[in-house]
Amino acid sequence: MEAAMKIDSELVHVGERKRLNADAIPSTTPIYLGTTYLYESAATLDSVMGHHREGHSYSRYSNPTNEALEQLMAMLEHGYGALATASGMAALAIALETALLDRPRSIVAARSIYGATISLLDQIFVTQGVEITYADACDLDAFTAAIEKSKPGCVFLESISNPLLRVARLDKIADAARAVGAAVVVDSTFATPLLMRPLDFGAHLVVHSATKYLGGHGDVLGGIVVSDEAHYAAMRSLARILGPSLGSFEAYLTLRGMKTLALRFRRQCENAKALAEWLRTHPKVERVYYCSDASHPDAEAIRALFAPGLFGAIVSFEIKGADKSKIFAFMDGLKMIVPGTSLGDVHTLLLYPLIASHRDVAPKMRERMGIRDNLVRVAAGIEDFEDIRSDLEKGLAGIQ
Ligand SMILES: *Cc1c(COP(=O)(O)O)cnc(C)c1O
Repeated sequence: MEAAMKIDSELVHVGERKRLNADAIPSTTPIYLGTTYLYESAATLDSVMGHHREGHSYSRYSNPTNEALEQLMAMLEHGYGALATASGMAALAIALETALLDRPRSIVAARSIYGATISLLDQIFVTQGVEITYADACDLDAFTAAIEKSKPGCVFLESISNPLLRVARLDKIADAARAVGAAVVVDSTFATPLLMRPLDFGAHLVVHSATKYLGGHGDVLGGIVVSDEAHYAAMRSLARILGPSLGSFEAYLTLRGMKTLALRFRRQCENAKALAEWLRTHPKVERVYYCSDASHPDAEAIRALFAPGLFGAIVSFEIKGADKSKIFAFMDGLKMIVPGTSLGDVHTLLLYPLIASHRDVAPKMRERMGIRDNLVRVAAGIEDFEDIRSDLEKGLAGIQ
């Protein structure tokens, strides 16, 4: 090969495509940046391209780094297979489109869902002729009545709602959906597979924004769909056409992050629980929202669906008499906690829904959703609890 080629060809070929020593195996999955895969014979390539034989051929279809992440997520969520995507939103779009293939073009969706998901449904799916019905997923009778009435192709909800942390009876909702032939899609970003596995309770497709807990370090944007066996082939063939593939560097970062997911998430849950308990006793705090609360409106669902002893890593709370300017003073008083948007990172992050997640929701609508102007949301990080507590104390002390 070498001697016969001219320099222009050498520049392209020499040193490339080296086989590793037959029995040498890298201890962590490398970042495979190659977009194309070749085989010893054209006949093998032909059978890979024709799906008669497993193998990679082109990175929009599959890639060894992404495959490692997909196998891990499928295992964790008790699914059949998974698809890694470039963002949580890309994962949601693929999951919902997969659910609607060969089914009526209609979705019954929980009312309190992620803002961009509402935009996806109202601005993209509606214009493609999909009928959307919103109902309160935590009002089981109303939600199942909406399913029975509209007999949708898909039912969509989140495992834990944002920012009021409501939890719907997924198991019962999945029964109602199954009875009318609807596929159940769950965005489980807030729960992670450590807190809840939606497929175990009857969901067909589970979505994560890997940008949050899975990546966990605020340095990677990504998404994952985990599917049951029935929807897997359709999901992958949709993705081959639409091309939402995660880059292999991002797949690597997510895999690296996930090695410590259990350690991080358990610690974040512990910190959140301790925070909720402390905030409840604070004279400047009006109300605390957290899933361990004995008087939580969905305590029964939490008992039925959550892993024992874990209640999630998000706490929301209202500050007494605070308006927007007082909340700003509180946020400016924080020294360690990161004021921003996102969640699930190793650092504690504080979000003010009014200027972030619920910025585009009309004030009247926000009020009806129960999201008041004095509400903030804390995503607990892995820091020492005392440092998180004293930083919040500093912020609260800054409110006159
Ligand atoms: C962040 C988030 C998304 C969107 O994920 P991206 O990775 O930002 O595209 C979807 N659902 C929930 C619940 C989220 O928190």
